[in-house]
Amino acid sequence: MARTLDDVHQEIRKAVAERAAALWDVALRLHAEPEYAFAEHRAAALLSGELERAGFAVERGVAGMPTAFAARSGEGRPAVALLLEYDALPGLGHACGHNLIAAAGLGAALALRDVPEASAGAVLAVGTPAEEGGGGKALEVEAGVFDGVDAALMFHPGVHSWARAPLTAQVQYRVGFHGRAAHPTGNPTEGVDALAALVELFNVLAALGRRLPEASHVQGIVTHGGTATNIVPEYAEGLFGLRAATTGALEDLTEQLRTCAQGVARATGTTAEVERATVRYEHFHDSAVLSERFARHLSRSGIALTPPAPGVYLGSSDIGNVSTRLPAIHPFVAIMDPDGSDHTPEFAEAAASPRAREVLVAATEALACTAADVLLSPELRAEAWEGHRPAVARR
Ligand SMILES: [Zn+2]
Ligand SMILES: [Zn+2]
Repeated sequence: MARTLDDVHQEIRKAVAERAAALWDVALRLHAEPEYAFAEHRAAALLSGELERAGFAVERGVAGMPTAFAARSGEGRPAVALLLEYDALPGLGHACGHNLIAAAGLGAALALRDVPEASAGAVLAVGTPAEEGGGGKALEVEAGVFDGVDAALMFHPGVHSWARAPLTAQVQYRVGFHGRAAHPTGNPTEGVDALAALVELFNVLAALGRRLPEASHVQGIVTHGGTATNIVPEYAEGLFGLRAATTGALEDLTEQLRTCAQGVARATGTTAEVERATVRYEHFHDSAVLSERFARHLSRSGIALTPPAPGVYLGSSDIGNVSTRLPAIHPFVAIMDPDGSDHTPEFAEAAASPRAREVLVAATEALACTAADVLLSPELRAEAWEGHRPAVARR
């Protein structure tokens, strides 16, 4: 019978150790059968099935996504959510290591259920599809999946071991220019070249890029540039990826894109349509008090987390949208050396390596112990919420 928080942590580590082989098996099964955004049917069935067998009440298809789920053990507050990502990258398999995120979240939820003293309140294991494109967590936030939850916990395998994830805000916009078709030699003065407008937009954005704040940038591609060389293009379209260090800076950048597109349209006699093409990923607010807890628990396995290198950003994730609503952590734990990179075949290989197995067990223990701390310590919850509100206000 566990009495102190230390005893609870010890019981949890024992429970995780007992499940280590089974969790590694889950990680390898996901790795062997990669599935992509919103089509992670086997993964969702496997993970939600394991939770159901352990006594969790499982709701499938949450937030209108067939491959999302929310599994709950216990009721009311306090409540802690473990986030399970399981989508892979087309052509690269599990090159972002989400198989390990899923297995660790699963393992932490099961360990908390194994140790009744650890789970005052409610433990949720939330299946979050399509992190790599689609933003399952953003849709779940909107659907209220995280309402009444005190903390959202996950880890991400990486090439660094960083307590906090420097993740930018990100969104994609489609810009279409409408002109008028004409024969380029027969009646050129009748033509209004939509492609010329799109090209001009790229030029204007290049000039804009020189005066953007750190970490803000726009990357565009041409998705439609006309149909034949003997027709003045009446329609041209580009897709623009916008990133910024904060969600507020991303809103500014979006306004600038609109202004540039409208200005180019006026200058070229075209009309411009600017529309959002993807869910907006907000920048990540780290719960310092909770990521510090996670780091402390992880250090028992001999893995030290450091703050991220200054000025380095590692892309974007829909965990940002969760972190706006409630205290959240998204530490990185290295499964390969820092000269490597995720989203590569080498990283996919690392996600099924002996080092990944060690990281999986260590991260599962640290997640479960951090979750137990949240559930059992009103002081920690109060501190986490106190740190959360001002962080979110500084958008
Ligand atoms: Zn990724
Ligand atoms: Zn990822």
